[in-house]
Amino acid sequence: MSVFEHASFDNHEKVLFATDPVTGLKAIISVHATVAGPACGGCRFWTYPSSKEALDDALRLSQGMSYKNIMADLPIGGGKSVIMKPEGEFDRQALFEAFGRAVESLGGAYITAEDVGVSPADMMAVHKSTKHVVGLPEGKAASGDPSPITAEGVFRGMKVCIERGLGKSDLSGVRVAIQGAAGHVGTYLCGHLANAGAELVITDINEAGLKELEAKYGAKVVGLDEIYSQDVDVFAPCALGSIINPDTIDRITAKIIAGAANNQLATRDLGAELQKRGKIYAPDYVLNAGGIINVVGEIQGSYDPAWVQGKLAGLENTLAEILDQSESEGCPSNIIADEIARNRIEEKRAAKTLEAA
Ligand code: NAD
Repeated sequence: MSVFEHASFDNHEKVLFATDPVTGLKAIISVHATVAGPACGGCRFWTYPSSKEALDDALRLSQGMSYKNIMADLPIGGGKSVIMKPEGEFDRQALFEAFGRAVESLGGAYITAEDVGVSPADMMAVHKSTKHVVGLPEGKAASGDPSPITAEGVFRGMKVCIERGLGKSDLSGVRVAIQGAAGHVGTYLCGHLANAGAELVITDINEAGLKELEAKYGAKVVGLDEIYSQDVDVFAPCALGSIINPDTIDRITAKIIAGAANNQLATRDLGAELQKRGKIYAPDYVLNAGGIINVVGEIQGSYDPAWVQGKLAGLENTLAEILDQSESEGCPSNIIADEIARNRIEEKRAAKTLEAA
């Protein structure tokens, strides 16, 4: 298996392959860039067909974290880790403690947190072996569930898009379709939108959650596959990645696409396809940075709500700048965002090299 030649390899600073035969741990920790600070990003616990897919996930996700963190101007770099779920019986506590030892071996270059398949209880097990972990349920600066802040950031960014796309500064009567409405972020987002007077169209695989939202906000419930073609102004993907793909793109009627899900575009070139169709696309990692903004308070050892609010205002400004540039240059918003992120990382790298010389 190649690493340096891997299609997703982007001069990642460090890639650690960690194993522990006693617990069955097979993990990959990928540190993309630490020029802005220690690399921070969650740990994914997943059944991978082979280490090839696990490596690809770790490389891509850690690069994505670098972009997200630098765009939010946070004092952290980008990293991510994956643990390949062992087959058969295993001791979960011991496995995560072993993972914590691998994190510790990087001496603080990587700070871990929850991602798909990982709970705050798992992070408490990791914490037994390392202090380089956030997203803990308890402790001096515990920041708690990041979802409400992620939802607030998405809501604020969505308003920026609505102002541009619909020429409206308020949300009364604006129709928004939310995919994954009953999830952690989706539920809070529905609350913000309904309070602002938006009309909600929702879908999810969690039917009980949908019923609650229907009763609480008068939301219209639609089937999983019907969400794309609803007659709405905004489509908010808050469930899965790659949901903008050749199969869905022509079914999306909304002018604006703004949601929390990571990696919404199945491939990078789909940004141009959205632009051709006159859509406004809010780059996902810019819009959904609220959660990581929230945990930075925990990394810094003090949680300051005013600082978090300032960063959310920054998120709105960054998004507005990207959309302006996209319009004036006729270049897709996802490409503009990637370019800004890469340039900022390179600038920091150059400044650091100069400092060291
Ligand atoms: P979640 O698991 O709580 O919510 C996802 C929801 O999507 C669930 O209610 C699930 O039932 C639903 N769902 C699953 N498959 C579906 C399908 N085929 N169609 C419709 N709905 C489906 O996750 P979350 O924490 O709310 O995160 C949502 C998205 O936002 C994810 O992509 C996540 O990576 C991203 N994100 C979350 C945060 C955060 O703070 N939680 C931060 C940044 C990005």
